[in-house]
Amino acid sequence: MTLTRLLSAFVARHWRAYASAAVMLATIAVLTVWIPRQVGHLVDGLAQGRLQGPDLWMQLGLLLGAGLSIYLLRVGWRLQLFAAAYRLGRELRTRLYERMTLQGPAFFQAQRSGDLMALATNDIDAVEMAAGEALLAAFDGSLTLILVLSMMTLGVDWRLGLAALVPFPLMALAFWFISNHVHLAWKDSLARFSSLNQHAQESLAGVRTLRALGLIPRAGRQFHELADHAGEAAFRAQRWEAAYEPAVGMALTAATVIALGLGGWLVARQELSIGQLTSFTMYLGQLIWPMFAAGWVLSLLERGRAAWSRLQPVLDAPLSLQDGGRLALPTDVPLHLQDLGFSYPGSERAALGGIDLSLSPGRTLGIVGPTGAGKSTLIKLLLRQFEPTEGQVLLGQLPLVEVRLEALRRGLAWVPQEPFLFSASIAENIALARPDASREAIEQVARLAAVHEDIAALPLGYETLVGERGVTLSGGQRQRVAIARALLSEAPLLMLDDALSAVDTGTETQILAHLRELREAHPERGLVVVSHRLSAVMEADEIVVLKAGRIVERGTHDTLLAAGGWYAAQWRYQQLEASLDAA
Ligand code: ADP
Ligand code: MG
Repeated sequence: MTLTRLLSAFVARHWRAYASAAVMLATIAVLTVWIPRQVGHLVDGLAQGRLQGPDLWMQLGLLLGAGLSIYLLRVGWRLQLFAAAYRLGRELRTRLYERMTLQGPAFFQAQRSGDLMALATNDIDAVEMAAGEALLAAFDGSLTLILVLSMMTLGVDWRLGLAALVPFPLMALAFWFISNHVHLAWKDSLARFSSLNQHAQESLAGVRTLRALGLIPRAGRQFHELADHAGEAAFRAQRWEAAYEPAVGMALTAATVIALGLGGWLVARQELSIGQLTSFTMYLGQLIWPMFAAGWVLSLLERGRAAWSRLQPVLDAPLSLQDGGRLALPTDVPLHLQDLGFSYPGSERAALGGIDLSLSPGRTLGIVGPTGAGKSTLIKLLLRQFEPTEGQVLLGQLPLVEVRLEALRRGLAWVPQEPFLFSASIAENIALARPDASREAIEQVARLAAVHEDIAALPLGYETLVGERGVTLSGGQRQRVAIARALLSEAPLLMLDDALSAVDTGTETQILAHLRELREAHPERGLVVVSHRLSAVMEADEIVVLKAGRIVERGTHDTLLAAGGWYAAQWRYQQLEASLDAA
């Protein structure tokens, strides 16, 4: 869709607001060209001594009334129009937001968040301006132009009118040339604003790291540079825009010279009165607004078009995950991974290959292996954050894609290694999936996740604010809060992706014991534990060892120990480490 299509569809939908604004503008335009005539009338009447007493007051009153009406109508059309334009901004922002919330990780991997933020603010503002100011100035400018031109040619003298218009096509040519440059300059300016946004966002998010590494001055210099570039680009665009006004001025001057030359000649031949020539030059002055409006409209439209060309690809980007599913999640069937393979978008190397696994309801699967082996990737495929590039995941007999994404995500509770806490109270963070959960239920899962005592020790207990604007919890505390959150959701399958990595061994044992008790109470619930600590998976029904995206060992704790591979060696090493720690 082009900007023109977007705007015309929008105008068609809000035609009432646009029509009433247009009527008001038309009235203003008529009153505006009427005023010079009325002034001329008054001057003539006064000079000839015809206008006196009540008649004079009446004529003056009309003039005043016209002025007042123009003022009120100007307020009126702005109210009508900007209300409509803001609605377009709101619609676009909502569309963008909804689109982004539907996208999967593959989309966000390809987009910079600073860009997305700039789109939601700056670029949508530019489109909004195109729908508001630009459309109306275009209408108003052309209407005034037509009225003034007809007053000049029909009301005064058509030969003079035609001659005075000769410079204007040249001006149009200049406008076309300038607007091409303006378009490029605005596009560049918006892109640079995006980079600036991105840098500010990253520096703020990583401010602790920057400070710890002593990189604040460097980040400051980079920001300074980007701000300079953004400023320069905006200045360049403004400079090109500034070229509109001299072009208008030159055309008008040329037109005035022609008018005075030819008009003087006509006056000498007594084909035109001095009064007519005077009003003609006054009308030339009234051409300034339409000319100026043309430049302004062109630049607003250019800005809008530049913004739209950045916005549209994001709004129209195909969803990186299609939700074609129709089913609710069946919870009583085993999950089969069949010959699963996956490469990240843009990556040559397969992150996973030839994975065959089954997980029956109520069973525990342990996944271990060195860093970068593909453990988290496997979990992401189960969550359908990414689609497998080979093989498939089956739920009983059904492909996983048959399940509605929302149902799937409700059915799987996932605790990542670095969980995200929102700027809200701890209680709200735990109750994320069930906002209506009672305080007892929240405390119960917090106890299961061995974090209740930590929370109770905070100044405001469960009401303590965390996240960006609250207290900072330790990595281990955050992990346990996230586990409590997952437990509260009561999903049939719980997946811990190295979710205990920042928790000490004692607490980890405690949490795992709680999970075991919980699963005795709910024997149908399944569990997937990814861990670098083998003690966390030793009781699993099946353990697989991943290496470079492939399953290299599988079995139970005992059979793996007996097999004497990576698992056995790693187990001995971790046992030794634990005994050294204890000593
Ligand atoms: P693990 O969880 O076992 O430590 P991961 O599943 O996170 O390993 O990573 C497996 C491989 O995939 C690694 O080589 C890693 O560099 C790569 N990888 C992980 N996430 C991405 C991503 N978002 N984009 C591209 N490559 C990735
Ligand atoms: Mg991982």
